[in-house]
Amino acid sequence: MSENKDQKFVYDFTEGNRDLKDLLGGKGANLAEMTNLGLPVPPGFTITTEACKVYLDSGEAPADLREEVSAHLAALEAKMGKKLGQSDDPLLVSVRSGAKFSMPGMMDTVLNIGLSDESVAGLATQAGNERFAWDSYRRLIQMFGKTVLDVDGELFEEALDEAKAAKKVTVDTDLDAADLKKLVTRFKKIVAKQAGREFPQDAREQLDLAVEAVFNSWNTDRAKLYRRQERIPSDLGTAVNICSMVFGNLGPDSGTGVAFTRDPATGHAGVYGDYLQNAQGEDVVAGIRNTVPLADLETIDKVSYDQLMTIMTTLENHYKDLCDIEFTIERGQLWMLQTRVGKRTAGAAFRIATQLVDQGLIDEAEALQRVNGAQLAQLMFPRFDESAGGKGGPTLLGRGIAASPGAAVGKAVFDSYTAVKWSRSGEKVILIRRETNPDDLDGMIASEGILTSRGGKTSHAAVVARGMGKTCVCGAEDLEVDTKRRRMTVGGTVVEEGDVVSIDGSTGKVYLGEVPVVPSPVVEYFEGRMHAGADDADELVAAVHRIMAYADRVRRLRVRANADNAEDALRARRFGAQGIGLCRTEHMFLGERRELVERLILADTDDEREEALSALLPLQKKDFVELFEAMDGLPVTVRLLDPPLHEFLPDITELSVRVALAESRKDANENDLRLLQAVHKLHEQNPMLGLRGVRLGLVIPGLFKMQVRAIAEAAAERKNAKGDPRAEIMVPLVGTVQELEIVRDEADTVIAEVEAATGTDLKLTIGTMIELPRAALTAGQIAEAAQFFSFGTNDLTQTVWGFSRDDVEASFFTAYLEKGIFGVSPFETIDRDGVGTLVRSAVEAGRATRPDLKLGVCGEHGGDPESVHFFHEVGLDYVSCSPFRIPVARLEAGRAAAESKGSDSR
Ligand code: ADP
Ligand code: MG
Ligand code: MG
Repeated sequence: MSENKDQKFVYDFTEGNRDLKDLLGGKGANLAEMTNLGLPVPPGFTITTEACKVYLDSGEAPADLREEVSAHLAALEAKMGKKLGQSDDPLLVSVRSGAKFSMPGMMDTVLNIGLSDESVAGLATQAGNERFAWDSYRRLIQMFGKTVLDVDGELFEEALDEAKAAKKVTVDTDLDAADLKKLVTRFKKIVAKQAGREFPQDAREQLDLAVEAVFNSWNTDRAKLYRRQERIPSDLGTAVNICSMVFGNLGPDSGTGVAFTRDPATGHAGVYGDYLQNAQGEDVVAGIRNTVPLADLETIDKVSYDQLMTIMTTLENHYKDLCDIEFTIERGQLWMLQTRVGKRTAGAAFRIATQLVDQGLIDEAEALQRVNGAQLAQLMFPRFDESAGGKGGPTLLGRGIAASPGAAVGKAVFDSYTAVKWSRSGEKVILIRRETNPDDLDGMIASEGILTSRGGKTSHAAVVARGMGKTCVCGAEDLEVDTKRRRMTVGGTVVEEGDVVSIDGSTGKVYLGEVPVVPSPVVEYFEGRMHAGADDADELVAAVHRIMAYADRVRRLRVRANADNAEDALRARRFGAQGIGLCRTEHMFLGERRELVERLILADTDDEREEALSALLPLQKKDFVELFEAMDGLPVTVRLLDPPLHEFLPDITELSVRVALAESRKDANENDLRLLQAVHKLHEQNPMLGLRGVRLGLVIPGLFKMQVRAIAEAAAERKNAKGDPRAEIMVPLVGTVQELEIVRDEADTVIAEVEAATGTDLKLTIGTMIELPRAALTAGQIAEAAQFFSFGTNDLTQTVWGFSRDDVEASFFTAYLEKGIFGVSPFETIDRDGVGTLVRSAVEAGRATRPDLKLGVCGEHGGDPESVHFFHEVGLDYVSCSPFRIPVARLEAGRAAAESKGSDSR
């Protein structure tokens, strides 16, 4: 990194603002923002993330940093009228880390920097409180020892406990100045012994060492792991805040607290927080003494309480959102130490967004930016009914990483073989492993959910489970999984194979026993079983309803469903689908119809083939009639047969065994022998790239014609029944316009015949999938023969990357994610740079040939939030996804539209 000559590495709190999070970190930017709002923030300054980056790159702080810090320190000292560590009246400061995103593993804050054997006396005199001075000093040595000098914190805790025990007291406030003085001596010895150096007596040395320790904490293992899991770039660096101390430990008229500007669970207005008298820093959350609810502060210190309430309103109105805050009261004077836009649950996000609209703080477009599809998806999973606890009920065993959402219950199994065996006999199982590997694939498929004790969000278990849409909790480190003895232990509890466990992939919680599952009220609402307008309507449902209405109002993208039958289609309609973007027809060749398909494949003569096809025709027609009826008035895109034929034939090994056995008994079945021959003939090295899609239609005479006839006749029947069928015929796996032209000519003939015979004008359209690179590259030509394109981004991703999804996800995606080759699987979120570029250019070329070309996407990406934004940007007409993802796609389409209108009200 090149150091810019006049680059500034230190900002006073008065110089920053909340938009400078990249440079000042979240904490520093918000401290500056509060300072500029005129709120009581103890003065201080921030060392930038840029300084940290230089340090991390070169191993040394930037050359000018020391001087810049000195200058800011001098200004601070002038403002406060005392010098850092000054022996008769010391200025004390805290050193606080603060990156752009808050993350675990970063260095804990060190308070009271500037105290020494000498200045502790000065502090005592100034405050008129000797106990306070020695309490502050012992805290400094403890925090500094632990976080800067890496001394085991337990040693200090033990010494503190011994001091309390010796005096027969239970809380730290019962130790007096003399006790604390002794404790300081003890702490200093611990430091000297463990760190191999004396506790530094020079205030500036304390400060410099603490700053350097913050820089170094950027690269602790915990921080690195967290960044990888949360996909936070590893080169952001952290800022360091130096903040003059205020003291909550000066006596009962002092204290420290935390608060939310409204209830983070429901969004309701009210007083939410905790307060602890005569305490400093983390005491309030560390549980060392009992805190009181924030509302009690009103009786303890009415003036500070009222001021705090006013400040909270100021902050909410300013940030236009729920904020959480940290504050301290020093002898009746209130000080603000931190604020940020507060974390909230998915449900609260929706409720708070609508409440802020009602309060006039944000508009509807901004409300859409306050929620997202992932949160909505979370609200749609069935949930564990956690109220169903009690004796004999389920018990919480522990917690892991919420890797793939859902609520799964089943019997514990510790290997894939057992998972498969038990699930075949109808048992529900949860596969529990230390971590999974490709050998576990069958077991994962057979399980309700997967639980591992190791690995993060990009571990094999997590990646594969997400790909399969299976519930997964990973990295539950408290579980000791013993696969050899087929059990796991957690604390004192032993879970044996066969014991029922419940795992929650949305919270990461793991239970022993069966937790009852309750349907999501949000799904009940989408299903139409719960009404948002009703008087007793669930508050969450009402909020979701409103946000969905905003999204539907602004979105440009239409949302369709991938559905193959009337039942799914009806559900999709209830969920808001505006058509079907992909009706696969392969299921119409399965079940009892398999035999007809076998006859079709084995046919030697045209007559035999015709016979099989005409037997299939009425069956398929009936399927289409039902579907068109369910989607009356809305477009239905039907894809002609796509998968390779061998998928409809018996398994090659099974059939070979059957034939071999029959032959050994000398009663070979003629049909089986012919079948086996056909299976051998159709066997492919790489079926994904073999005889499938449009290639089938061109090679097997009559197949596509039969399908087109079934569609046309079904549409005609609906028309004559006064219905409004809107079928669109889609040809899969086209690579060149010639393929499409041939299929199209045949289809046109069939459609004309049906129209003539039924006296109808069907207005059927014919289009193609764009799912091969060649199709995308020649989209301009293909558009001459296609009335619409539907991007098949699953196959397009496979063929652009040369990935066979089923093979690569299970075998090496974990390694790729860990090495950072991509941050998220290209099968989950569209690869903008590669696959996306092809989509974009195909859209342009297609529209250039045929301006009214209809454009959609029917790969799984159609329901992925990030990808929906991309499809909005490139100007598709619709996305199509599984029925359950439709609300997510509607919401994200709305967010994309609102965002691109630049609606941010701030
Ligand atoms: P975290 O990022 O873990 O919240 P903070 O930097 O906010 O760490 O500090 C930890 C605790 O110390 C908090 O309770 C904070 O309010 C308190 N604290 C930090 N700086 C000061 C200060 N200058 N005076 C008094 N208390 C402080
Ligand atoms: Mg804090
Ligand atoms: Mg495909």
